[in-house]
Amino acid sequence: MFVLNSLSPKGTGLHLVNGRHRCEGRVELYYEGQLGTVCDDLWDLADAQVVCRQLGCGQAIAAPGSAYFGHGSGSILLDDVRCQGNELALQQCSHIGWGRHNCRHHEDAGVVCSGTGTSYFPEVFSINCTHFVHSNDLRVGLFRQPSTKTAI
Ligand code: CA
Ligand code: CA
Repeated sequence: MFVLNSLSPKGTGLHLVNGRHRCEGRVELYYEGQLGTVCDDLWDLADAQVVCRQLGCGQAIAAPGSAYFGHGSGSILLDDVRCQGNELALQQCSHIGWGRHNCRHHEDAGVVCSGTGTSYFPEVFSINCTHFVHSNDLRVGLFRQPSTKTAI
């Protein structure tokens, strides 16, 4: 299965920080246990849309760069991200290589989604089960139901 082969079930978590709610903020993700950010080079709405979908946060409204949601710390994991917009996870999008970049944290990428993350259940249940496989997010894990488990 493509999703399982291309994404390790461990360490693929992604979340947004420093926004008003969990559906906006600076993009932070894990790669091989390392927390890092995304550079704003080539960062646009198509990329943001993938993040919003991945988090069950509706449509992308904006893809602010230049550390709009503050400077991250640690690694800059992704640069020159080129999503088509229909990918299921940011980690599936084209980029120049994990940890490769020519950026600083003042270029950290952010996302604003239409959802607020307050009504989690309808969004979770409207996405297909591959999301449960690759969303290593704790919140997704908490809401994972026995009935959806059997579908995987
Ligand atoms: Ca892009
Ligand atoms: Ca770059």
